[in-house]
Amino acid sequence: MSPEEFRRFGHEVVDWIAGYLARPEDYPVLAQVEPGQLRSQLPTSPPERGQPMSEILEDFERFVVPAVTHWNHPSFFAYFATSASAPGILGEMLSAAFDAKAMLWRTSPASTELEEVALDWLRQLMGLPAEFGGVIYDTASVATMHAVAAAREALNLHVREDGMSGRADLPLLRLYASEQAHSSVEKSLIALGLGQRSLVKVPADASFRMDAAALKHLIEEDRRAGMLPFCVVATVGTTSTTSIDPVPAIADVCEREGLWLHVDAAYAGSAAVVPELRRVLEGCERADSLVTNPHKWLFTPFDLSALYSRRLDVLRRAFALTPEYLRTPEQDAVRNGSDYGVQLGRRFRSLKLWMILRYFGHEGLAALIREHCRLARLFAGWVEASPDWELLAPVPLSVVCFRARPSVEGETDGARAARLDALNERLMTAVNATGEIFLSHTKLHGAFTLRLAVGNIRTNESHVRRAWELLNEKLSDISNEG
Ligand SMILES: *Cc1c(COP(=O)(O)O)cnc(C)c1O
Repeated sequence: MSPEEFRRFGHEVVDWIAGYLARPEDYPVLAQVEPGQLRSQLPTSPPERGQPMSEILEDFERFVVPAVTHWNHPSFFAYFATSASAPGILGEMLSAAFDAKAMLWRTSPASTELEEVALDWLRQLMGLPAEFGGVIYDTASVATMHAVAAAREALNLHVREDGMSGRADLPLLRLYASEQAHSSVEKSLIALGLGQRSLVKVPADASFRMDAAALKHLIEEDRRAGMLPFCVVATVGTTSTTSIDPVPAIADVCEREGLWLHVDAAYAGSAAVVPELRRVLEGCERADSLVTNPHKWLFTPFDLSALYSRRLDVLRRAFALTPEYLRTPEQDAVRNGSDYGVQLGRRFRSLKLWMILRYFGHEGLAALIREHCRLARLFAGWVEASPDWELLAPVPLSVVCFRARPSVEGETDGARAARLDALNERLMTAVNATGEIFLSHTKLHGAFTLRLAVGNIRTNESHVRRAWELLNEKLSDISNEG
């Protein structure tokens, strides 16, 4: 593509993005397509000859856009709502242009050093101790896998050299996480060859927080059975309800038992940027590692996950491996990103984070997150005030777990539970089919639970109000249909 052509289509694409970000509400938030619809509209084999960019962009608009679910839509309330903020998108564009493979310092000094600077800034914003060094990965799932690998390396069992298979000298290693922990914890154990048998699910209390007394008891029981406890994963902001595990009490247990403490703060770490919410990370200064996802609630385009650890040397020991062709004269004086994980090449992700932290500043970020929490509390207040609805979990941050519960005379408990599950599932399907809002669900104490997650940069009170109206309209439609 000639520079002139690139300039022309570059401007066209930026104009398109600007229009899109100005009016994401022109699109249904949840793609209203059937499985296979996009595939059936496109040729089954690639073109023999190159095609004009103008045609490609036309087809992008005609076929691709309708099959997009719009995470940038202000009424995206499903899972965790996220945003690709403008400075982040600009950072991504520039990073794509450099196409750096930041495996060694010299292959992208800018990427390596901006990563250190941006992660240290973010560490300060969250109030974590200066001993915490950071590494950027793509996702929290991958960051947690590396943290668990470091926890295993810290045991000095020569797993790096000898592996785990065929070894009679190894007891069963055990990792503890609450029953509310994210599935990525279990996947880490699968990926690292520890197996699901290594996971101990610690019971949670009525507010979905890990029971630290049960944790202590389970560790003692495992030790008596000859197993080897090595790691605890605490969650600050669980995926279902955003509950916050009692990290200070868990850190006490880890300290006494000599276990690696990893904190999964993928979503809620960002809340600590708000001074009055900093307490969500209470006790985390004692953790060995902690992951937070700026791509979740810090307005950073996917992907960017930050792993912090006071023991990055252990992580490095687990993964550093330098073949001759990657040796450099400066290697002992610099950080080489590929030493900290399984990936060799690494994207220049730090650029967008650095731009975002500068563009919004501490105050700007805190104001957005504070407002999201206010909107969630507002919605929760409406739920509490209505006899037809109920909250199913506390609302510590920006997610509301709730359900409709219209009453029916003389019903057994079992019949009521089944009726409400079916009703709420129908309600979710009905509101999502409008394309106006997008909600997802979870199960709490066995009950089908609706989740409203506020986190998009464009979400304001009108969107939350409309979601509440729409839910009530659909509830009354369903009730009238019987
Ligand atoms: C979202 C989430 C994850 C997984 O995040 P990815 O970056 O998509 O891997 C892990 N843990 C918690 C608590 C989460 O909310």
